Amino acid sequence: MDKQIGFIGLGIMGKPMALNLIKAGFDVTVYNRTASKAEQLVSQGAKKVSSPAEVAGQTTVVITIVSDTPDVESVILGKNGVIERIRAGSVVIDMSTISPEATREIAARLKEKGAHMLDAPVSGGEQGAIDGTLSIMVGGDDDIFERCQPVLQAMGKNIIHVGPSGMGQTVKLVNQILVAGTLNAVAEALIFAQKSGVDLDKAIDAVKGGAAGSWQLANLAPRIIRRDFQPGFMIDLMQKDLKLVMESAATSKLTLPTTGLVHQMYYSLQSAGEGKSGTQALVKALERLTGVQVGK
Ligand code: NAP
Repeated sequence: MDKQIGFIGLGIMGKPMALNLIKAGFDVTVYNRTASKAEQLVSQGAKKVSSPAEVAGQTTVVITIVSDTPDVESVILGKNGVIERIRAGSVVIDMSTISPEATREIAARLKEKGAHMLDAPVSGGEQGAIDGTLSIMVGGDDDIFERCQPVLQAMGKNIIHVGPSGMGQTVKLVNQILVAGTLNAVAEALIFAQKSGVDLDKAIDAVKGGAAGSWQLANLAPRIIRRDFQPGFMIDLMQKDLKLVMESAATSKLTLPTTGLVHQMYYSLQSAGEGKSGTQALVKALERLTGVQVGK
């Protein structure tokens, strides 16, 4: 069984995920571009190194969870990247959300070194990462998926092998279409409830257990009402995902009206300097359109 695990990218998601691997008894070697963010993990037993290549040289499974496609390419294929020291037989598990096509290209480059790759993007947010209850959608070979089960189980609960390389990322885009549409509905519902003079907390309590219940409603509506726009998931990162969705849809002339609309509304928020806000700030775009402000 793989015991030496490398972890690259200690952001909102990566830090708690790496911590859960330590708690599960793995020996974890970490790298983060901003080195200071690794200190908490070092105090919990992680070993810190100074490049992705060093991570690969000391471990047999290397996890990456960084921001965007070029960032994954940089830490795996770039200077001092994983590929410089990856050992034959090792596995890279990329848990970022990135392009399915780029994923297949990275997997092919690693294969030239005798290494394997799984794309294993996640859903469940910061709280899911902290609780170790993430949903993980995995693309790659069957035997490598089976081999990596203990590692994935330390970070998630609903772990599904969805197909060959790149398919994990494609299913993650399916996830993001659902997230965008559901969050848009939550924001519209809150605007309507506010305008109608309903007690917002009671309204959420009344509907959340029924057919209208959702993760977005349960987790983000209370934040919207408190006007807490701190990011669990930043608008800039959501836009990266929706861009991937819309580009992929465009190649097959597929119309996605609601997803396209949400993507456009997020552009207006990015222009207004809200890119680092949480996705729940979508309500602000609707507030501008309607003249109604939700919450106190
Ligand atoms: P984040 O808090 O912004 O963290 C990003 C991490 O990537 C940081 O550790 C950052 O290093 C590192 N990074 C970015 N570009 C890099 C580069 N070129 N070279 C080296 N390191 C680089 O983001 P996050 O919310 O954890 O999201 C990470 C990934 O998970 C994204 O693909 C996102 O779409 C996905 N995701 C996020 C959530 C969520 O709810 N937050 C849910 C599901 C999936 P520094 O510390 O030096 O900046």
